[in-house]
Amino acid sequence: MKYLATIGLEVHVQLKTRSKMFCASPVEFGATPNTHTCPVCLGLPGALPVMNQEALRMTVLTGLMLDCDIAPICKFDRKNYFYPDMPKNYQISQYDMPLCTNGNVPLHDLAYPKDAQKNIATPDKQVHLVRIHLEEDVAKSFHFEASTGIDFNRAGTPLMEIVTQPEINSPEEAFAFLTSLKQILIYGAVSDADMEKGQLRCDCNVSVRPEKQAELGAKIEIKNMNSISGVRRALAFEIQRQTKALERGDKLQQETRGWDDAAGETFLMRTKESAHDYRYFPDPDARTFHGSISSHAV
Ligand SMILES: [Zn+2]
Repeated sequence: MKYLATIGLEVHVQLKTRSKMFCASPVEFGATPNTHTCPVCLGLPGALPVMNQEALRMTVLTGLMLDCDIAPICKFDRKNYFYPDMPKNYQISQYDMPLCTNGNVPLHDLAYPKDAQKNIATPDKQVHLVRIHLEEDVAKSFHFEASTGIDFNRAGTPLMEIVTQPEINSPEEAFAFLTSLKQILIYGAVSDADMEKGQLRCDCNVSVRPEKQAELGAKIEIKNMNSISGVRRALAFEIQRQTKALERGDKLQQETRGWDDAAGETFLMRTKESAHDYRYFPDPDARTFHGSISSHAV
């Protein structure tokens, strides 16, 4: 029996602004930990967010470069969760009214891995997007032997989330998608998209089903990929793992997995039962705007 893979990507892109999304703290990679913070990005009581207009402009520009529809009205929401990397206990994000919807990323021949360029399954393919929304990045945790340190320099950095339709059918197409997207983001000067610096990070949703089955298989998510070649290898591993399981007659279930690059395999992180409920609601501090908002432009 033949099996088909269906892949969708969620890509997080750090914007190249000079200051953070809701405060004037500078954005700088590699600075001494906890030197670029203020009451807003530390979530201190009483601190209020002030929108970064340049981050809005860059997100809309990305939407225009990718042929998206730009929302005439949008809003920001609170995504509630309790974790040390987000001191407010919520992240300001966009839930049901994102800045950009639809759009697409064209996969050029030269964006495929070199060894796959002679054998492109669907030349001139475009991968359609669901949405692009704007949110704030969280702090970065460093796990030491007996303790964990947190660097809040990254907390509050403007972050775009770009979500594709589940239209990618191979690890090579996922590679081409990320390569094309990265080129467009760099060309538009909205991000340096350096994956080694965490400026572009990717979650992959992948499911496998028998060719004759119309319904998609169980959606398995691989979290926090930080290299394009890693995405290709992780997807290849995961498609093979799921195919083997189906051939054995096993039933796959929705789960979240991590990628161990050194071992070259994915591992189970959590199953559907432990999925988060973020209890989104509109952020009363970052109000709906119609072109005129309280903002700073750096
Ligand atoms: Zn700050």
